[in-house]
Amino acid sequence: MASNNNIEKLEEIKEKIIDFYESAANFDKVWITDVKEMYYNVLTAWTLIRGHKNHDTDINIKQAESAQAALENSKSRKLQAISELRIYKEEAKDLITALDQIFDLCYNEISNIIQKILPEMKGKAPKKSVNKVSENEYNLLCSVCGNIAAKFIIGTSKSFNKRIFAYLGVIHSSPLNLKDAENIFSLLEHAELSKIHSYIKKYPTIEDGIDAYCPECNKIYCRKHYRLQEEWDEGFYDCTYATCPQNHTRIIDD
Ligand SMILES: [Zn+2]
Ligand SMILES: [Zn+2]
Repeated sequence: MASNNNIEKLEEIKEKIIDFYESAANFDKVWITDVKEMYYNVLTAWTLIRGHKNHDTDINIKQAESAQAALENSKSRKLQAISELRIYKEEAKDLITALDQIFDLCYNEISNIIQKILPEMKGKAPKKSVNKVSENEYNLLCSVCGNIAAKFIIGTSKSFNKRIFAYLGVIHSSPLNLKDAENIFSLLEHAELSKIHSYIKKYPTIEDGIDAYCPECNKIYCRKHYRLQEEWDEGFYDCTYATCPQNHTRIIDD
């Protein structure tokens, strides 16, 4: 099988990178974890979907969803691993090229299989961008597929034993001040996305606003349709960019 082959190649590169760090100075060994996690997440994703028989059983769909999550983790670790290797410039150039190539082959192959197992989410554009679930809960719907991309909700938390108002986004979740609920809900009532986006920027935890929102097209996108790209700088997380289907790019997490 082609994929098996690529995963073996990925394992070889993982070993080479580990050898590279083992032979370097003491501190460099801290990066080994990331390249290992990159590899084992790919392996997990592959193991979950390998040999699936039917296309429509619940178990396959659950496995495919877990595989998707593992695959996204692997991508994040791969970006981190590459940013670490870049520290070594010329010395690690070949390792970076090899990792980039083989990882993409593995990623694309596994991703294609996952998409075949998961039920198709055909582009059913919703009639509206905000869906009121109840007095205390509003969903923001992806303008491409209609899936829930983010939500504002008031609920009671068992652990805190009090009412909590929160924003749950594409990559960010943040508690909000209950006193803001009335204002935000009234803006949601009128689907004033741009105003809500500005309004919540005052919270340091979500200072980039609604992370599911593209201000340029004034639309909401889910995780699948707002393509995310993490940036890593010498082993440390820098920020996340998102690009909408109209190719508007912005930082959604800094
Ligand atoms: Zn979507
Ligand atoms: Zn846009």
